[in-house]
Amino acid sequence: MESECPIDAELHNEISALLKPHPPSQVEDYLNHLIKTRQCHGITVKHNGDLGKGVYAVSDFEGDQLVLKDQILVGHQHSSNKIECLVCSFCFRFVGSVEQQIGRRLYLEEHGVSVNCCQADDEEEEELGQCGSSSSDYKEKVPLPKGLAEALMNGEVKLPYSDKFSMPQAVPCPGGCGEAFYCSKLCAESDWNSSHSLLCTGERSESRSREALVKFIQHANETNDIFILAAKAVASTILNYRKLKLTLSEGDYEPNLSGSPYLSLLLEAWKPISMGHKRRWWDCVALPIDVESSDEAAFRIQIRELAFTSLQLLKAAIFDEECKPMFSLEIYGHIIGMFELNNLDLVVASPVEDYFLYIDDLPDPKKNEAEEITWPFLDALGDDYSVCCQGTAFYPLQSCINHSCTPNAKAFKREEDRDGQATIIAAKEIYKGEEVTISYVDEDIPFKERRALLADYGFRCRCPRCVEEDP
Ligand SMILES: [Zn+2]
Ligand SMILES: [Zn+2]
Ligand SMILES: [Zn+2]
Repeated sequence: MESECPIDAELHNEISALLKPHPPSQVEDYLNHLIKTRQCHGITVKHNGDLGKGVYAVSDFEGDQLVLKDQILVGHQHSSNKIECLVCSFCFRFVGSVEQQIGRRLYLEEHGVSVNCCQADDEEEEELGQCGSSSSDYKEKVPLPKGLAEALMNGEVKLPYSDKFSMPQAVPCPGGCGEAFYCSKLCAESDWNSSHSLLCTGERSESRSREALVKFIQHANETNDIFILAAKAVASTILNYRKLKLTLSEGDYEPNLSGSPYLSLLLEAWKPISMGHKRRWWDCVALPIDVESSDEAAFRIQIRELAFTSLQLLKAAIFDEECKPMFSLEIYGHIIGMFELNNLDLVVASPVEDYFLYIDDLPDPKKNEAEEITWPFLDALGDDYSVCCQGTAFYPLQSCINHSCTPNAKAFKREEDRDGQATIIAAKEIYKGEEVTISYVDEDIPFKERRALLADYGFRCRCPRCVEEDP
C-alpha cells in the first residue's frame, strides 16, 4: 500500500470526522428541536432499532388534520419549469401577476427560449402527473398575434378579474444575475445569505469565478439537477461556517485534535446535512431498468465519474481552502446520496389555473364577456395552461416519515398552502403513539410496480400489505 503524505492524511481525518454518524439520541434531539421551530406539536422523531428513525404521533389526529408543515432545507425549481412558472427562488411562491405569468411564458416560447432539460426532469414530470392536464385529446396551440405576449408581460393588457388572483411583485436578485426572482426583500436576503451569494452568476456574485459557475450549472442542467441541490448544500455549509467564524474571537475556538483549528466550526456548520446522509450516491442510486446487472459495476463507476466532473466545476467556482473537505468526492458523494434517497417533489399549484377555472365558473353573461378576451390566451397556452411549479427539495422532517403502502398520512397541499413548504395531512385518524406513515409512491398501483418504484428509495417495503401481496 502506498504511504499517504501528511496533508492527505489530515484531510482524510477531517473527512472521516465529518462523515462519522451521530449517536441516535443526538439525531433525535436535533430533529425534535426542528419540530419545535415548525410549530407542530403533535409529533416526535424516534429511533426504532433496525427500522431507523420514524415520526410518531404524541397526540391524536383526526382525518384531514395538519400533521406537519416542513420547511425546505435546499430546494430547486426544475430548469425546464422556469419558463412555465415565475416563482420566488427561495420560498417558491408564484410572483408577478396572472398577466405576467401568461405573457412571460408565451413570450419565451415564442422566442424559442429553452433551457437544457435533463433526462431526470423528464422522468420526474411523468411521475408527477398530478398537475398539468392529461395528454389525451391534445389541443393544437394557436399562436397569439405579434406583440400581444409582450403587452401582457409589460402590463399594457389587463385580463378581466385578474386582480382577484394577486401575487407579490417580483423582486430581482440583488446580485444582478437576472435569473433569480423573489416574492419579497426578505426572501431575497435569506436566499443570498444561505447560498445564493456564492451561486449567483450576477456581477455582485461572491463566487471565485462566474464563468466556472455558469459551466457548473450548465453541466447540471444537461445531466442531473441533483447537483444544483448539492451545490446549494455545499454553499450553505461554507456560508454557515463563515458566520460561525465571525462570531468567535481569536483563541476562542477549541483547536481540534485532528488538525484544522476550524474543524469544530465546520462540523457545526455541516450539521443540517450531517443529520441525514447515509450512503454515497454511486453506491445507493438504483440500477436503471435498461442496465443489465452484469454492467452494474461499470454503471456505478460512470455515476461516480459524473459526480467527479460536477465537483471539479463547482470547485473552480466556489472553492474555500478552510472548507476544503467539502470539496472531496467522498463528501460530495454523500450529499448527493442523501438527496437521491430523500429528495421529494416540490409542487406549488398555479394561480393561472385557478384564474381560468374562475372564469369558467362565472355566470353568463359575465363568463361570455370575459372569455371573449381570455380565449386567445388559453388557445395559445394549449393544454398545459395549468402547469404548476415543479422541482425537488429536501425536507428534513418529512424525510424522516417512513413509507407504508397503507399509509395513515399523505402529502397534500391545502388551498392556503401556496409556497414550497411540505404539508402532511392525516389521511385517517391517527392515535397517540402510532407511527405516522406516508406512501412514497402511488399506493393504488400493483405490488410489482410499487416494488420497482420503491427501489429508487433504496429499500424493499415489508409492510403488512406487501408481505401479503408478495407472490
Ligand atoms: Zn419568497
Ligand atoms: Zn443572483
Ligand atoms: Zn408495502
